[in-house]
Amino acid sequence: MRIDEALRAARDALAASPTARLDAELLLSRVLGRDRSYFYAWPEKPLNGDQQRLFDLLVKRRAAGEPVAHLTGEREFYGRRFVVTAATLIPRPDTETLVEAALETLPDGPARVVDLGTGTGAVGISLALERRDWRVTLTDASAAALAVARDNAEALGAAVTLVRGDWLKALAGPFDLIVSNPPYVDPDDHHLEQGDVRFEPRSALAAHDRGLADLRVIAAQARERLTDGGWLMLEHGHDQGGVVRRLLAEHGFQDVTTRGDLGGNDRVTLG
Ligand code: GLN
Repeated sequence: MRIDEALRAARDALAASPTARLDAELLLSRVLGRDRSYFYAWPEKPLNGDQQRLFDLLVKRRAAGEPVAHLTGEREFYGRRFVVTAATLIPRPDTETLVEAALETLPDGPARVVDLGTGTGAVGISLALERRDWRVTLTDASAAALAVARDNAEALGAAVTLVRGDWLKALAGPFDLIVSNPPYVDPDDHHLEQGDVRFEPRSALAAHDRGLADLRVIAAQARERLTDGGWLMLEHGHDQGGVVRRLLAEHGFQDVTTRGDLGGNDRVTLG
């Protein structure tokens, strides 16, 4: 098939996905090793037999529900490509809110920063690359996730420290900034049975106590690991803004505010 024909066939096969066209282009981009712009320049180019077979296979797996990021092995976040495996959460555009909050809130100059539950490393590595004078530590309880974060840091040229551990337990601090996108979905939420999340680690998504268990632990541990004037910034669910603001206030945080994500939902609370 020609590129344009292959894309059209894939879009039809993926009609159940709300992002069928993008999915098809990302998968073909992976198969051909070309940017998506190539398809518009060369729509009549034919795929060879190997390429066609691989593309058909990836489209079939996508149609069966596997996330595009698992099939291509990567996902873009804050303008950079991150390696993704089944050991980590797939970085979401909403989480760029966390990166923006940090870049806009902290003063210029050096800072000691930790990203808790880093997964692919998307948040901490983005910060380390945007602010070369920040000293960034990435932590995760999962050794497999930490290996992915290490690969990403090396590939993107970020000088970060990696520490395996549970939230702040293994770390002395003090930090000027603690950021985290912890699990915060209610384990009973139907959302966990639908779409890409079915293929992501449950431990990166769901937390007891209606999704609040890990947010509570982090809020409780953070105060004594922060410098005077240091910041805690937490991603959370769209309906958890009020609870997390109260949680931070209870632990003595000041200037507590919540920021919205791209869809206008409460997403990040800082104090
Ligand atoms: N926002 C993600 C989702 O709803 C959850 C991410 C997380 O739990 N940290 O799929």
